[in-house]
Amino acid sequence: MSRTPYTVLISGAGIAGPALAHWLAQADAGFEVTVVERALAPRRGGQAVDIRGAARDVIQRMGLLPSVKAAGLHEHGFAFVDERGKHQASLPMNFMGGEGIVAEIEILRGALSRILYEATRHAVDYRFDDSIESLCQDEDGVHVIFLSGARQRFDLVIAADGVHSHVRALTFGDAHSTSVAPLGGYTAYFTLPFRIETGGWFAIHNAPGGRAIGLRPGGPDTTQVMLSFLSPPVGYERLSADRQKAILTETFAGVGWEMPRVLHVLEHMGSLPDFYFDLVAQVHMEHWARGRVALLGDAGYSPSPVTGLGTSLALVGAYVLAGELVRSGQMHDVAFARYESIMGDYVRQCQALPPGGLQGMLPRSARGIWLRNLSMRMMTRWPVRSLVAGVFHKADAIVLEDYFAPTLPRLTAEVGQLFPRGPGVSLC
Ligand SMILES: Cc1cc2nc3c(=O)[nH]c(=O)nc-3n(C[C@H](O)[C@H](O)[C@H](O)COP(=O)(O)OP(=O)(O)OC[C@H]3O[C@@H](n4cnc5c(N)ncnc54)[C@H](O)[C@@H]3O)c2cc1C
Repeated sequence: MSRTPYTVLISGAGIAGPALAHWLAQADAGFEVTVVERALAPRRGGQAVDIRGAARDVIQRMGLLPSVKAAGLHEHGFAFVDERGKHQASLPMNFMGGEGIVAEIEILRGALSRILYEATRHAVDYRFDDSIESLCQDEDGVHVIFLSGARQRFDLVIAADGVHSHVRALTFGDAHSTSVAPLGGYTAYFTLPFRIETGGWFAIHNAPGGRAIGLRPGGPDTTQVMLSFLSPPVGYERLSADRQKAILTETFAGVGWEMPRVLHVLEHMGSLPDFYFDLVAQVHMEHWARGRVALLGDAGYSPSPVTGLGTSLALVGAYVLAGELVRSGQMHDVAFARYESIMGDYVRQCQALPPGGLQGMLPRSARGIWLRNLSMRMMTRWPVRSLVAGVFHKADAIVLEDYFAPTLPRLTAEVGQLFPRGPGVSLC
């Protein structure tokens, strides 16, 4: 194996990017890893994400399971509430052994991103507030121009820059333009600067018109909000945050339960630091690599939040891609082909939507909401319970090879301190 540093640039410091960086930087296989992220720091936003099936194994192999569990949400599960906050149906955390709709390990996305960043930042060159403006590859490598004006050559570039990946657009051209498949709605996440009590549940209120508000306390003085609504894809994701807030205000006017307090914040608070708004969509690509550039996580195969598997897929994808790069002795074409072949079926299974898709989660009529709640109540009972089990057990449908030696204790000790308790322009 070559000892010349093999340089890898990863675009995106969300989940997939730092997870890949973790493996490459500690594999002692001569990789020099740079991560470029357009935000000023790891992004805090988002609701709970699930770590299921094989991804739990990946987190364990990374040596991060204790920190992830400590920072995890210790909630009772999901509760669907009416306009007065009365429970209509609930799914407890222990339903289906923690591998059902509610996973055993649920963690705020921002907390997971932070854990992955802290575990890697000493071994990886993180460059925040910058991004790739253009890239061009030849036999010698990938020549990158950054937005900051810097120019640098890398052996490989990995796109981990999410559903709307800029690297995918620069590299895959036509295939990129048809890669995002909208699922019929939008979702926003943000934090309220006060606490709304939900009795230990992630509480969701559906309102007619295909609208839902979800709340969970995020700390002593904060509440995490999720707002989702049905809509054809009309480009809202490209608008300014102020316009997006105005759209939410119009869309959710008249909704009961805690919505008036949320609307008040949307209307009167100038800036919400972790405000996130996006199209609910999947990403489908025929291939995940072209030359020296490969796609990872949501950038290559987002299953969408509807499946609850985006984070798990990103963690497993990062493990397999890193493992194959190490195993191939840095022969990227061999590694990328194996990565696609090992992950292909798994991705296809994880992208299968639950019955009804997004529309099933956001019923349009009061009767539809009533029926959905009824089906949720049935779900906890045999025999419906065994029917739904198959939907979630696909998170385990991959056998992970043993690519790496046990993780270095140095990395996990640093994270333990963080959470001590509880929770194309051509250059060629
Ligand atoms: C702020 C945020 C909140 C989210 N909340 C949820 C949630 O509550 N529930 C859920 O199921 N999923 C959520 N997701 C999506 C979820 O994180 C992913 O589905 C999954 O974890 C796979 O992660 P990823 O690293 O592939 O993509 P992401 O987590 O989307 O990370 C992509 C990263 O790339 C960065 N980036 C984007 N464009 C560029 C660029 N041009 N140059 C450099 N960097 C760039 C982004 O800022 C981000 O940090 C959220 C994503 C984000 C960014």
